[in-house]
Amino acid sequence: MAQHHQLYVDGEWVDGAMGATFDSYNPYTGEVFARVAAGEVEDLNRAIAAADAALPAWAGSSPAYRAELFLRAANVLEEMRDEFVQTFVEEQGAAKFTCNFQVNFAGMLMREAAAQAHDPIGQILPSDTPGAFFMTKRQPAGVVAGIAPWNGPLLLGLRAVTLPMVYGNTTILKPSSETPVVGGALIAKLFERAGFPKGVVNVVWNGPGKSGEFGEAIMAHPRVRRVNFTGSTDVGRELGILGGKYLKRVALELGGKDPCIILRDADMDTAVNATCFGKFMGSGQGCMAVERIIVEQPIGDEFIDRFVKKASSLKVGDPREDDTGIGPLINRRQLERVKTQVEEAVRDGAKIMCGGRYEGLSYWPTVLTDVKRNMRVMREETFGPVAPVIVVKDVEEAIEVANDNAYGLSCGIITRDLQKGLAIADRIESGMVHINESSTADEPHVPFGGVKDSGWGKMGGKQAAEEFTELRWITFQTSPRQYPL
Ligand code: NAD
Repeated sequence: MAQHHQLYVDGEWVDGAMGATFDSYNPYTGEVFARVAAGEVEDLNRAIAAADAALPAWAGSSPAYRAELFLRAANVLEEMRDEFVQTFVEEQGAAKFTCNFQVNFAGMLMREAAAQAHDPIGQILPSDTPGAFFMTKRQPAGVVAGIAPWNGPLLLGLRAVTLPMVYGNTTILKPSSETPVVGGALIAKLFERAGFPKGVVNVVWNGPGKSGEFGEAIMAHPRVRRVNFTGSTDVGRELGILGGKYLKRVALELGGKDPCIILRDADMDTAVNATCFGKFMGSGQGCMAVERIIVEQPIGDEFIDRFVKKASSLKVGDPREDDTGIGPLINRRQLERVKTQVEEAVRDGAKIMCGGRYEGLSYWPTVLTDVKRNMRVMREETFGPVAPVIVVKDVEEAIEVANDNAYGLSCGIITRDLQKGLAIADRIESGMVHINESSTADEPHVPFGGVKDSGWGKMGGKQAAEEFTELRWITFQTSPRQYPL
């Protein structure tokens, strides 16, 4: 019997305005996992009105109170761990270790929010005006809407609203229609159980095919003051255009084609283990997943040999089993994208060293060699367990290949020479670089974000306060001024 889930608006669980529902499928079994309410723009508007009504009290509440609520949420999250993990596995198909990783991150995020409650501070500025006192002050921006993807539903859904809330904003979360339960309904339940006042967080999702309508309604609504979007570059671009049209600031956390550079002096165990984890976690469906492996020629063969052995040893299959490393892809469209990129690469001369096969939505860990820079598998996001490996003659070529891409999210560099690693890091066009680690890394207190087609804005750390508060200039005169008129 499938579960039933409703939208969460103004502290109430409600059906969509039209009473319509849609089914959320388990991508491994293909069975209906849950029947969920299909939200309409009318529901979204009610959620925005509720957030707006809750704003004055929440923005005026003490930071200590807000910190306390987030600490409570961290505890509730732990109590709900099994529910989160089980739902995540069923709805998104991720292996259990990936789900537990996201629950751990979510707990850290709640505590980071509590720690930042007193943070958004202003400054006292000097002035050239006699008798003037100048200060800047950070205030809540207002209603903040967060649009989240399916691939990290818990972590990215929470990231869309958590820091905005602790700064005194009220929020709307719109999860993906692929993961409305783990990325939406359960997040609402978490905040409800932690005792967040009604209207402070609202969770509404649209039925399939209506995301564009929702997106425009969010961007156009005058009471929504900030939007954050985590998802594909194509949709981010559309929202950026709408941001111009409606003069609304939108933080964009978009796709990636992250390189991992392995230098000739690399520790081979680190190179193989870090790249394998960074590539195959979440079945490769991660924005910061390793999407291109660039290895210096002298160690090319050895790395490929060991990496292929490790990739081949990962267990593919039912994510409900504890030892499964690779769960299914999210849907058939995603499978087609992965398959097509691999087929095209092979047609154009690439070799499949392992994998290259699929069953249902499960795609086997695949290593491709003899790839060329102009192949789609080297240029576009694959978002699957496919690792193209390109062998380069030296560091200069490695940097050139790494930067030869429209995206710029994260990058890994594996080397024993820290100084060299740091010098290379300076020349990589990305928001984040990790030395002796793959591109896959995140903690809630860091300024996570990309450059180029990977977007703009920082969703984590203290830098999030710049996205989600208004920096205002306030002055007062301590003595009468002399005016020329
Ligand atoms: P997507 O762009 O299709 O959807 C993301 C969200 O936007 C979903 O909630 C979807 O319903 C909604 N949406 C779709 N069209 C919309 C529109 N026209 N207006 C407003 N909202 C719309 O992306 P996805 O397939 O869910 O997620 C995968 C993508 O997200 C990948 O490209 C991945 O790299 C990226 N991603 C980026 C980060 C990051 O932090 N940079 C993190 C995770 C995923």
